[in-house]
Amino acid sequence: QRTVVVTGAASGIGATTASLLRSRGDRVIGVDLRDVDVCADLSTAAGRSAAVAGVAELVGPDALDGLVTCAGLSRAGAPQVSVNYFGTVDLVLGLQPLLARSAAPRVALVSSISSTQPHDPALVEACLAGTEATALELAEAAVADGRPHEIYASTKAALNRWLRRAAVSPEFAGAGIAVNAVAPGVVLTPMTEELVSNPQWKSVMDAAVPMPLNGYAPPEAIAHALLWLLAPENTHMAGQVVFVDGGAEALTVAVGV
Ligand code: NAD
Repeated sequence: QRTVVVTGAASGIGATTASLLRSRGDRVIGVDLRDVDVCADLSTAAGRSAAVAGVAELVGPDALDGLVTCAGLSRAGAPQVSVNYFGTVDLVLGLQPLLARSAAPRVALVSSISSTQPHDPALVEACLAGTEATALELAEAAVADGRPHEIYASTKAALNRWLRRAAVSPEFAGAGIAVNAVAPGVVLTPMTEELVSNPQWKSVMDAAVPMPLNGYAPPEAIAHALLWLLAPENTHMAGQVVFVDGGAEALTVAVGV
């Protein structure tokens, strides 16, 4: 039995991932705002520390074998910076000592196709520099300038860059911890419910994220990819962002449609 922490476990991709892991016999420690094992607010440094402490208490002297970071916000202004980027990175760093005890430790982040879309380079740099206050100021400025969509894209672009560095570092690769990410296209969860049900927003989204292979994804499509990244069989993938997006990245970035 492997022990896996899933953030954002109360809804959508996180809830589906947690349920698939449990159904195959793994022990899941859910982290979210409510209805989980460790209730914590990942938008604050104190909440992130509480989440790490809560997990450490439940794991005890044992090892943590996996971490999946699904907690995230879209269309919520500046707090996206704190939850999507710092809420991910601080959990990965905070749980590293518990992961390092495992014989086959794996980390799977949840990025997004939005990481390939227009973003704010200064906001990305502020995230990578670990300066949350500056990043929040830049995000507030993006809202004020009418560029609120750049915040989500920036947090996910920053995660992709952070993970490439972390994955090959002594703390992770050196401790045998494989760190990778899945970048979904449009997934049918509470996050996208409003977008897909509003014809105007839906047509904007469909133009930005065309998904020629099988259209919008159910959360299971992402969860199964996350499960593979977490598996002991994944011995040599490091620092990769795997697009599970119905072909959206191939079409918009590589083919250039
Ligand atoms: P969701 O809204 O169903 O679930 C997100 C979860 O994160 C919720 O349970 C929520 O409570 C939790 N969360 C939000 N703020 C938090 C906080 N401050 N502290 C702790 N937990 C918090 O959304 P989802 O679609 O399952 O999204 C999961 C991940 O997938 C997110 O990182 C999202 O950015 C990413 N993603 C989703 C899509 C999509 O189309 N749904 C596409 C690309 C990427």
